[in-house]
Amino acid sequence: MVNVNENFLKLQAGYLFPEIGRRVRAFSTTNPTAKIIRLGIGDVTEPLAPAVIEAMHKAVDKMAVKESFHGYDDGGRGYDFLLDAIIENDFGSRSVEIDRSEVFVSDGSKCDTGNFQEVFGIDNVIAVTDPVYPVYVDTNVMAGRTGTALDQGKYGGIVYMPCTEENDFTPELPDEKVDIIYLCYPNNPTGAVATKEQLKKWVDYARKNKSVILFDAAYEAFITDKSIPHSIYEVPGAKEVAVEFRSYSKTAGFTGIRCAYTIVPKELKAYKKDGQSVDINPIWNRRHCTKFNGVSFITQAGAAAIYSAEGKKQVKKIIDIYMSNASVIRQSLTKLGYTVYGGVNAPYVWLKTPEGVGSWEFFDVLLQKANVVGTPGAGFGAAGEGYFRLSAFNYPAVVEEAMERIAKL
Ligand SMILES: *Cc1c(COP(=O)(O)O)cnc(C)c1O
Repeated sequence: MVNVNENFLKLQAGYLFPEIGRRVRAFSTTNPTAKIIRLGIGDVTEPLAPAVIEAMHKAVDKMAVKESFHGYDDGGRGYDFLLDAIIENDFGSRSVEIDRSEVFVSDGSKCDTGNFQEVFGIDNVIAVTDPVYPVYVDTNVMAGRTGTALDQGKYGGIVYMPCTEENDFTPELPDEKVDIIYLCYPNNPTGAVATKEQLKKWVDYARKNKSVILFDAAYEAFITDKSIPHSIYEVPGAKEVAVEFRSYSKTAGFTGIRCAYTIVPKELKAYKKDGQSVDINPIWNRRHCTKFNGVSFITQAGAAAIYSAEGKKQVKKIIDIYMSNASVIRQSLTKLGYTVYGGVNAPYVWLKTPEGVGSWEFFDVLLQKANVVGTPGAGFGAAGEGYFRLSAFNYPAVVEEAMERIAKL
């Protein structure tokens, strides 16, 4: 008899986006002529930058010729041309020194943030923000690092750190000692950012408690405020305690291409039960190269093109479109009397639902009266109740129309 991994049975059935899909389908069935505008799921809408397309076409042609054909890259960690572009442009430009051996190219940050917990022991206490990107939690549930589901979608054994208006959506240090801390800034879903001082607080905590920070920087390209760090390694000492995840998905519209990378510093340590320290970089290298065989040459060529002079300009123009959408959403809702957060350094606007209206109730009103789909804050965690996420990923004219409809509510 084959046993099932019962940890998977702890996962809650009503996952956020399927539930949204169910409600939208039910509404469409009874209102087949309604023109629904989707500002829900965070997926990009603009086509790829021309420089990326050109580089990928060229890469395809190289694959057709014996002399320039590419097979596996060395160990599946990324071609040097991409590693060097990453090191120079994403880190060197911010005075952060990163070595090739610290960069691991992959097919997405969802898998990287989900997989990374594998290299840590099962007894670690994990801490997540509330609201949170569900991947961090669910992958720890699958691994058996949590208890069963409690009410409000929480799991036993996880430390939840509320992010509210009072703390500017950046969590307080936990009272109890935690070992693995997931942070995502600029934040999905709240659109909040962390200052260098706030990140320093976490780096100091992790150094003092021998913890690790898993830092998701998927939205760093949307930062407009010059004082906000793009990388956690801009905080001195962070390389001893932090892993950083970057993705081309939102940065360069790669959600359908698939390319990301993770930085695992050589200084990063975890500890054996007897207290002896162990380097994590070689362990992640072993994990990565055992279970993954690299991103396609064509994709990596496309990713490297983002760092060319033309590529940078083109990608920036696309990001500006989304950020202009975010600004339109912010301004329209503010004019209507809503309290809004985010949308300045992130493509998400986090609005407060009207007094006494729950976030799923607000979802239903918006769907039925304005035919606009957003994401209920409660779907990201208990502290998200009373909030609602609108995504700036859509065409400007569509965003304008959505705002006009909401104004008529
Ligand atoms: C979109 C997103 C990612 C990127 O995931 P990919 O697998 O690289 O597409 C990572 N983290 C967060 C919080 C995101 O919203």
